[in-house]
Amino acid sequence: MEHAQPASAPSTAEPLRLMAVHAHPDDESSKGAATMARYAAEGVEVLVVTCTGGERGDILNPRFGPAPETPEAMAALRREEMAAAAAALGVRQEWLGFVDSGLPEGDPLPPLPEGCFALVPLETAAAPLVEAVRRFRPHVMTTYDPSGGYPHPDHIKTHEVSVEAFAAAGDPERYVVDGGAEPWAPGKLYYNHGFSMARIRSVHEAMLGAGLESPFGEWVESRAAREIPEREVTTRIDVREHLDQRDAALRAHATQIDPDGFFFAVPRDLELEVWPWEEYELAESRVEVAGAARGDADTDADSGAEYETDLFAGLRPEVGAEPVRQDA
Ligand SMILES: [Zn+2]
Repeated sequence: MEHAQPASAPSTAEPLRLMAVHAHPDDESSKGAATMARYAAEGVEVLVVTCTGGERGDILNPRFGPAPETPEAMAALRREEMAAAAAALGVRQEWLGFVDSGLPEGDPLPPLPEGCFALVPLETAAAPLVEAVRRFRPHVMTTYDPSGGYPHPDHIKTHEVSVEAFAAAGDPERYVVDGGAEPWAPGKLYYNHGFSMARIRSVHEAMLGAGLESPFGEWVESRAAREIPEREVTTRIDVREHLDQRDAALRAHATQIDPDGFFFAVPRDLELEVWPWEEYELAESRVEVAGAARGDADTDADSGAEYETDLFAGLRPEVGAEPVRQDA
């Protein structure tokens, strides 16, 4: 978590900025969507950066009807869906322009398609994201954990390019481009943990307790069987006011999201009572942080206290004061 380079400092003269890096159109609506809607509503500038066009996504909504016939038609449709989702969340969105790798299935797994995002060498794949960071100048970035959160090659690659851009965008000697934007070092990098087992289990048990059919039964069993290690949660954002916007953004991805499916199976009352948060893990920080985000044993998230509650904690300029900096 140590960076020789200090964070590019926020100033009171300009808004805070949040950049969320995602693999495919729709990932922004299922991971951290309500958090983005909340910050956008509070005046933070929020930019979703989508690495690929989602060209190899299947139609996952059984009500959608026949699939578009070409990858180009699918990509066009997904661009329209993405625009509607961004509007629902009140955020801006940009494409990096890489091609979806698809989710390889079978045993043995088939080779990845030529030219896809997952096969692009790291420096080439990270370059447009570095440039996007230098142009947008986010104070906070979000991405996936090293496992991708889900074993899709594009999600793992999204993690890799995000970590690379967080590390390199502030360094004037790396990714030098003629006419490129000035270096910018974001203050913090978070991993999304919207599907933690703690959440799945809590909601699952509350559904059963209320006499409802839980959509998470198989999930609880299969995760337990695969023994996926749980990542640490440092940060919990209260998003109760923005769950409607999250749902609207999900519905906007009509090819991917079944309006009667899994994502909408939990009644809102129950969700508000049991899990009105979105969770994150602070992975890298160039500013001083407190509580569970600092990784102190006595303020560990498991002991029940001191989650960080603001992605911009330590980064909000105090009026009339110099921003806190940590010179490592
Ligand atoms: Zn995805």
